[in-house]
Amino acid sequence: MVIIPIASSSSGNCYYISDGSSHLLIECGIRIDKIAKSIPVNLTELNGCLITHEHKDHSLSADKLLRYCHIFASKGTLEELSIESYKYKQHEIKHNQALRIGTFAVIGFNVQHDAKEPLGYLVYSTVTKEKLLFATDTFYIQSKFAKLNYIMIECNYAKDIIDKNNMNTMVKNRLYSSHFELENVKEFLKANDLSQVKAIYLMHLSDGNSDEIRFKHEIMALTGKPVIVCQKG
Ligand SMILES: [Zn+2]
Ligand SMILES: [Zn+2]
Repeated sequence: MVIIPIASSSSGNCYYISDGSSHLLIECGIRIDKIAKSIPVNLTELNGCLITHEHKDHSLSADKLLRYCHIFASKGTLEELSIESYKYKQHEIKHNQALRIGTFAVIGFNVQHDAKEPLGYLVYSTVTKEKLLFATDTFYIQSKFAKLNYIMIECNYAKDIIDKNNMNTMVKNRLYSSHFELENVKEFLKANDLSQVKAIYLMHLSDGNSDEIRFKHEIMALTGKPVIVCQKG
């Protein structure tokens, strides 16, 4: 599978994946001209765009993207996006439901975030037989997964950095109940079978509450896998 992180932060998220036959975007939270410039195919060649939730840093260009391709999200996310045009190109994904998109089979699963109906996605390629897990903007993941080959996971902040930063209690509490913390990411990774994992992508690092080099080394040390930190873009 080819994975290209295009943008990853609270200012915008967008990722491109392909198995050679089909092309997907996950998130479209940046300007459409930037998406067009950053992917190796034309927008019309995309089989679809998966959106995890309605927050703008994940969905900014959803309306414009609909001119070129289909979008996939939970019912709640589509309701919040509330785009009146191209209804026939807006597809619902439910928790635990599998959907075929080109040569990919996609399953949505519930995540924990302050959005209407946020989802994470398991993406399986029927061509390469590889399985990718995508989970962002969640402070916890309940489900366990087997035989993953790629893990794309939020690693937003570290508790000890927050403590040093002396943050406002309200902001801090919102973070605790909406975004993934380094030690919790580690617990999630430890709870899952990583034997087939080829690479781990860390996403959506916070500007002030993360440490890219430290996060990368700690996850590498824990898992023994290559770790790529997705850049802000
Ligand atoms: Zn976000
Ligand atoms: Zn969000």
